[in-house]
Amino acid sequence: MNDQTCQRCGEPVELDREDYELFERMHPECFHYAFEHDLTQPGLSVDEDCGDPACPSAA
Ligand SMILES: [Zn+2]
Ligand SMILES: [Zn+2]
Repeated sequence: MNDQTCQRCGEPVELDREDYELFERMHPECFHYAFEHDLTQPGLSVDEDCGDPACPSAA
């Protein structure tokens, strides 16, 4: 049974329990958007690259 659901987008998260907890019960990319993406550029769209090497929006 998989009861791991993303706190941000609501989709199932297929990660090890440890990793799931590590990312605050979110997908790694959702965690990034929730906590890191607009830190330096408040209000930045999720479609734009925030400059973080780990940014899912990077080309
Ligand atoms: Zn998610
Ligand atoms: Zn980003």
